[in-house]
Amino acid sequence: MKIRFVTSLACLTLVAGATAHAQEYPTKTITMIVPFAAGGPTDTVARLIAQSMGTRLKQQIIVENVGGAGGTIGAARVAKAAPDGYTLFLHHIGQSTAPSLYRKLPYNAVDSFEPIGLVTDVPMTVVARKDFPAKDAREMIAYVKANKDKVTYANAGVGSASHLCGMLLMTALGTEMTTVPYKGTGPAMNDLLGGQVDLMCDQTTNTTSQIKSEKIRVYGVTTKTRVASLPNVPTLNDAGLPGFEVGVWHGLYAPKGTPKPVIDNLAAALQFALKDATVKQRFADLGTAPVPDNQARPEALRTHLKAEIDKWAPIIKKAGVYAD
Ligand code: ASP
Repeated sequence: MKIRFVTSLACLTLVAGATAHAQEYPTKTITMIVPFAAGGPTDTVARLIAQSMGTRLKQQIIVENVGGAGGTIGAARVAKAAPDGYTLFLHHIGQSTAPSLYRKLPYNAVDSFEPIGLVTDVPMTVVARKDFPAKDAREMIAYVKANKDKVTYANAGVGSASHLCGMLLMTALGTEMTTVPYKGTGPAMNDLLGGQVDLMCDQTTNTTSQIKSEKIRVYGVTTKTRVASLPNVPTLNDAGLPGFEVGVWHGLYAPKGTPKPVIDNLAAALQFALKDATVKQRFADLGTAPVPDNQARPEALRTHLKAEIDKWAPIIKKAGVYAD
C-alpha cells in the first residue's frame, strides 16, 4: 500500500513538473532541422516560418541543415532528439515516400514524430541548364528519349521531392537518365547554373528567380493550372505530359513524446507565421501560399501524412525503385 502511494505521488510530481515546464516554454533557443542543404527550397520555407514563429514565441529559432540520403538522415536525427520542444523538423512530401523507398529506415515516419501542422504546398518545375538543346517540353521529351542515360538529372537523393518528380518523369518518358544526387537542390541548382548537370525538377521556391532572370530553361509546372508568379510557363499537362502532376507539401514536426501543451503552443505559432504578411508575400513571390489555419494543425498533418503514405506506396512499388 505504502509503496503504491509513494509511486503515485512521484507520478503526480512528474506530471506537475512537465506541465510547469510546458507553461514556461520556450525558455531558450529552438532548433529547426531541415533535412537538406542550406540555400535550397525546403531551407527557404523553414527560414521564413522560423523567423516569424520565433517572433510569436519570443525565442529565436535557428535552422540547422542536416542533409543527405533524401532527407532520411535529418529525420533520423530528429526521431532520436529529446522531446522537449527545442528540436523541430521541417520536412516535405519525402516523409511520406521514404517508407516505401527505403527497405530499412531507422525511424517510423508516423510513430517517431509528433505532427504540428501542414505549412505549404509548393509546385515543381522541370528545368534545364541554359544551353540544354531543347527549347520547350516537346523538344525536351524527344531529346531525353533519344539520348537516355547520356542525359544527367540532378536530385537531392532517394526520397527527395526532386527524386520523386524525376521518377515520375522517367516513367512517363519510358527511359532512364543518369541521376546525380546532392545533399539538397540548393547545391544542385549551382551545378545547373554552371552547366555541369542537364536537368532537374524542383520546387518553385528554388527555381522562380532563376527562371525569371533566364539563367535556366523551364519546360513546365507540375500543377493543374499555371502558377501566378510564372504566368508564361505552361503546365506539363498542356506541354506534352498529360496528367503529370505533383505538389510538394511541407509539414512541421517534433520528436514523439513532446508534451501536448508545447505542440499546441507551436501550432499556434505556426498559424501566426502563416498569416504574417511578409511570409505570405514571400511565398507568393516564390509561387506558393501558406495553408489555411485549419490545416496548420497536428490532426490535419497526421491525416495527410498517412493518406500520402498510402497514395505513394503502390506508385513507388510499380516503379520498382528502392534504396537500402
Ligand atoms: N527540393 C529538394 C528536394 O528535392 C530538397 C531541398 O534542397 O530543399 O526534395
